[in-house]
Amino acid sequence: MFVGHFAISLIGKRLEPKISLGTLVLASMLPDFVAFVLMIAGIEGVRFKTGAAITSGMRAIDALEVSQSSYSHSLLMGAIWGGLFAAFYFALRGNKRGAWLLFAAVLSHWILDFASHPPDMALAPGLSARFGLGLWNSIPATLIFEGLFWVFAIIVYVRVARARNWASHLVFWIPVVILTLAWYGNIAGPPPSNLSIIGYTSLTFFSLAVAWAYWCNRLRPVVQNVR
Ligand SMILES: [Zn+2]
Repeated sequence: MFVGHFAISLIGKRLEPKISLGTLVLASMLPDFVAFVLMIAGIEGVRFKTGAAITSGMRAIDALEVSQSSYSHSLLMGAIWGGLFAAFYFALRGNKRGAWLLFAAVLSHWILDFASHPPDMALAPGLSARFGLGLWNSIPATLIFEGLFWVFAIIVYVRVARARNWASHLVFWIPVVILTLAWYGNIAGPPPSNLSIIGYTSLTFFSLAVAWAYWCNRLRPVVQNVR
């Protein structure tokens, strides 16, 4: 998933306002960050499907397949990355509830990718079985399920974290539009011509997204007593 992971972060802010939205985005996207680093290192990656006819108008998700992702994206590794992240947060902040929520946010990445990916999600490194419900195979179904989840999360977030001025509105809404367009490009757009730079470009894009989320967290304080 894409905006679905950001939706988890926005809802997480409602559940535990003490965690920065930036930390929540980092947690819900952590397996992807690990994957980008491992892609740059040449350990994980995507490739053009072998044996399939690649035509010019093809969507990226039809033309590409995962060559290796079980260190970043298997269920077991999700639990390990989540445990490490939560332990680090707990050591820094001493917030037990927040640490559990961050663990759940990291683990939710596997569940959402399992729903959206074709069967390429492993349970643990070294196990050959792959799972995935393939929501992303259907653009309309993705727009409905992931899109509605995204809209729902945005509503939950803006009700609890209020903008103080017009600048806070712009800082939130312009990147929300950019993320939504990038998501649509991911599900409907063609594959990039150069696969070797995906790790670098994605790492840059999503690092900016995390920085943006920390910024939003400062600009939009949580109001108490939201029902
Ligand atoms: Zn992922």
